[in-house]
Parts: sequence; structure tokens; C-alpha cells
Amino acid sequence: MRCPFCSADETKVIDSRLANEGFMVRRRRECLTCSERFTTFESAELVIPRVVKADGSRQPFDEDKLRSGMLRALEKRPVATEAVEDAINRIMHALQASGEREVQSQIIGELVMKELLKLDQVAYVRFASVYRSFQDVNAFREEIERLESEPNAS
Ligand SMILES: [Zn+2]
Repeated sequence: MRCPFCSADETKVIDSRLANEGFMVRRRRECLTCSERFTTFESAELVIPRVVKADGSRQPFDEDKLRSGMLRALEKRPVATEAVEDAINRIMHALQASGEREVQSQIIGELVMKELLKLDQVAYVRFASVYRSFQDVNAFREEIERLESEPNAS
């Protein structure tokens, strides 16, 4: 890339290391013309798909909304904040990795339920009962068994 000091074309990388917990690469570069040094940060550009609601309307993905929904289900439950943040990161990563431009809100709901099931069964049941409006206890049990039997549940 061009040198920000003299606009010369040729710069060389003199140091490269991971930053931001491995999500970025920090590079020290040196201009071959003026010998000035500067730093660049490189990160993957991932786009979170837009959310398609049940009524067909589209909304931007809202991380705060996801978090508050999960925290509501986890209220007064013995689950560490860090574990919740990890779960949120996994959900967002799954959405980004899909490469889709739109995602049904239902898919997000299922990702949330999968994570809650791993974190805390009570929270899972709370969330699922609102989200799915299960008819009876058997439907719950079937759902839990289905999720637990999925090979890629981790
Ligand atoms: Zn330069």
C-alpha cells in the first residue's frame, strides 16, 4: 500500500502480529522511499445478514436486542456474563459465516435456544416457552431431546 507520508508505492512489512484477541492483524510497515514507519490493521469484513421477521418485514440485525432477550431468559440464573457473551459471539459468528444477506428471525431464535440449552436449562425453557409457545410438556421434552441429539450441537 502507499506510504501515507510521501505517497510512494512501495512499502514493506517489518512486523506482523495478531491484535484484538486474534481478530485483527497489526502490521508495521516501512516506506522504501522515505523510510517512515506506520501501522495498519487488517480485519475480516463480515456482514451480518438482515433479519426477516415473521410478517415479512426486514430489520437490521440488533445485537443489543439479542443480548437483552437472552439476559431476560437468564434473569437470576447462575450463568457468568462471560459465558453469555461467548454465546452471543457464537450466534453472531454463525450468522456471519452463513454468507447470506438475509436471515429468518426464526433461525436466530433457534440459534439462541441452542446456546441457552447449553448455558442453562431453565433459561432455555423460559425462552422457548415465549418463543415457541409450546403446547405441552411433551413438546418441550421432544425439543430438548432433538437439540441434544444433534451432532453439531457444540
Ligand atoms: Zn514514504
